[in-house]
Amino acid sequence: MRREIIEIANNLYKKYGSDDLHFIVSKLKAHLFEIPLGKIVKEVYFKDLKAIVIDPNLHFYRKRHLICHALGHHLLHQGKKTNYFIDLDKNFYEGLKVREIEKEAEMFAAFFLIPEEKLNPLLKEDWIKESPDPILELSEEFQVPPDLMRKRLEFEGLAMPMNSFYKNILAKDPVCFEEKIIEIV
Ligand SMILES: [Zn+2]
Repeated sequence: MRREIIEIANNLYKKYGSDDLHFIVSKLKAHLFEIPLGKIVKEVYFKDLKAIVIDPNLHFYRKRHLICHALGHHLLHQGKKTNYFIDLDKNFYEGLKVREIEKEAEMFAAFFLIPEEKLNPLLKEDWIKESPDPILELSEEFQVPPDLMRKRLEFEGLAMPMNSFYKNILAKDPVCFEEKIIEIV
């Protein structure tokens, strides 16, 4: 599944030559709405309506992440029946299933927004090799939140130990780590 998801992300990136998500969403016959969702919910994907709803108040990078995550569900999980409303800690198998499809949607988002053909040459550059933790610079380069950048490198087996200076900065940034994503899939 892993390679399959990466191929889907790569092919889509090559096909449209763009990561403009409004454009991609419309090409994939989904609909995107920006509607305030309150303090906890940041993104909702309505499978039957093929509708992605995100909170307009999110940081631009986080919007890109969450739209793309929802697109991952749109492309990969149309036929899957999953119940997000039961207590997943008490329902072991349902919990596993949800974690698996969440990981797949994250993987799609990470490989679409940070495509192999752009990342791989960058990783060979000296400034990256010499930086103790190039996550923030790479996040700016790809216009994604630092936690998605880190996940992308983890998927690649390249995650670097987070140095405490960055850890402190990231911990203070509510956009990065404080929010919860609740979805209806
Ligand atoms: Zn999800």
